Amino acid sequence: MSLRVYNTLSREKEPFVPVTPGLVGIYLCGPTVYKPPHLGHLVGPVIFDAIKRYLVFKGYRVTWVVNITDVDDKIIEEASKREMTFEALAEQQTALYMQVLDELGVKDSIDVFPRASRHMPDIVRIIEQLIAKNHAYATEHGDVWFDTATDADYGKLSNRRLEDQAAGGRQLEGSGKRNPTDFALWKSTKPNEPAWDSPWGRGRPGWHIECSAMSIKYLGETFDIHGGGDDLKFPHHENELAQSECCTGKTFVKYWMHNGLTRIKTKAASGEWKSEKMSKSLGNTMDARELIDTHGPDVIRYLLLSTHYRSPIEFSEEVLSNVKKALAVFTRLFERIDRLGMAPAAGESAIAAPFEQKFIASMDDDFNTAGAIASLHELAGAINGEIEKSQVESNKNPAAIQTVSAAVAKLKSLAQIIGLFTVAQTRRSDDGLADQLMQLIITLRAEARKKKDFATADLVRHGLTAIGITLTDRPDGTGWEKK
Ligand SMILES: [Zn+2]
Repeated sequence: MSLRVYNTLSREKEPFVPVTPGLVGIYLCGPTVYKPPHLGHLVGPVIFDAIKRYLVFKGYRVTWVVNITDVDDKIIEEASKREMTFEALAEQQTALYMQVLDELGVKDSIDVFPRASRHMPDIVRIIEQLIAKNHAYATEHGDVWFDTATDADYGKLSNRRLEDQAAGGRQLEGSGKRNPTDFALWKSTKPNEPAWDSPWGRGRPGWHIECSAMSIKYLGETFDIHGGGDDLKFPHHENELAQSECCTGKTFVKYWMHNGLTRIKTKAASGEWKSEKMSKSLGNTMDARELIDTHGPDVIRYLLLSTHYRSPIEFSEEVLSNVKKALAVFTRLFERIDRLGMAPAAGESAIAAPFEQKFIASMDDDFNTAGAIASLHELAGAINGEIEKSQVESNKNPAAIQTVSAAVAKLKSLAQIIGLFTVAQTRRSDDGLADQLMQLIITLRAEARKKKDFATADLVRHGLTAIGITLTDRPDGTGWEKK
C-alpha cells in the first residue's frame, strides 16, 4: 500500500504524490513569541516531526520550515507591560521555544526557522505584486488590504461562502476596507511601535502575509504540505491561500493538513469530568518546559502521538498516568533484553515482520500514529511471549537470545521512525531512581566531610563533575544538577 494523506482542501484522503519526485517541502505555522511555550505549542512540532521522519523512512528528502512570528500586536503589548523592547522580548521567547524543541528532540528535525522581522523585502514584494494585479489596494492611511471580492475561490479551504461571511459589516467603518472579509496585508503603525519602510509608508505586515512570503521563499510557489492547528484553518490559512494563489497564479499547497487541538480534562468540585479547550484566557495552559522536565520527552511525545493527529488531544492526570504505564511496557522489555547481555542486532526479524507491516500500513493511512503505536505494543507482547516460550532467561541459549534481541532492535527502530526513544530522558522520568541514588551519594559525601575526610568528599565532587553533574551546597542541604 502506498501513502495516503487527508487533505483539508478536498476533504478526502488522497494518494501522496509530491510536486517534485523524491522531494517533500513542509511548512508548519509556528508560534507568536510573546509568552513561554505551553503544551499546545508542542503538538504541531511533535506530529510533524513524526511525519517528516516517516517520509524520510519512505526515501524522501524532506525540507521542513517552521516560522517564528516575531512581529505582532501581542508582542508589542506584552513588551510594553514588561518595559522591555519588543525585539528583546521576541528574542527571549524564541530562545525558550527553541530550548523546549531541543529537549523534545524535535529542533534538529526542523530545517529552517524563518522570522517575520527578517523577511520584510520578501513580504513587501508580494504585496506589491498583489496591488499590481488588482487583488489588493492601499488606503490613504497607509494600510494595504487584500480584496477578497477579486478572488472567486475565496473560502474554498474552510468551506465558507463569501456571502455567509459578509454578516459582520460593521467592521467596515473607518477601516478603509471595501469588503468585510478583506484582510490586512500591511498596517500603518502608531508612533513608538516597530515599523519598517514600505512604498505605503512606515508600517508592519499583517500576520497572514508573512507565512506566504516565507513558505514561498524556502519551499517554492507550489509546495507539498502545509500544516497547522485546526484553529488556523480560518482565517489564517484561508487568507494565506488566497493571497499566495492570487499572487503567483499557481496552486499554493498540494496537501493541507490540520491537527486537532489540545483539550484539558479536569474534575469539577461536583465530581464530574469536564473537557475544555486549552487557552491562555481560560488560564489552563500547561507550561511546556515544566511538562518536559517533569515527565520526560518520551511521555509528552507518546501522549501527543497516541491520538490520531486530526482528533482533539485530551490531556489529564489520568491520561498522563496511562501513558507512563504504556511506556513502561517498552522500558521493562528493553531492560529484560539488556540483562541477557547481547547487543541488539539490527536486521530482519521473523517475530517483528507482521507487526512491522501493520506499523507501516497504519502510517501509510494518513500518518495514523495511534495505530502505529498499537502495533508496537502488539510486537512487545509477542517478544515477551517468545522470551517465556524459549525460556531464554534461564537457559541463555545464544540462538534464542539472538532471535529476541533482533526483534527488540526492530521494535526500537520502528519506534524511532515516529520519534520515540530518540532522546535521552530527563532525570525525573526514570521513576526517581537517579534522584534516590544522588541523595545517597550526597549523604555519603556529607558524612565524609563531618569526619573531616575532605579527600573523599572532593573525590565525590570531582567524580560527579566528570560525568556532568554539579552539586550546589545551600543552607538547607545539597542540590544536584545534570548539565
Ligand atoms: Zn502561518
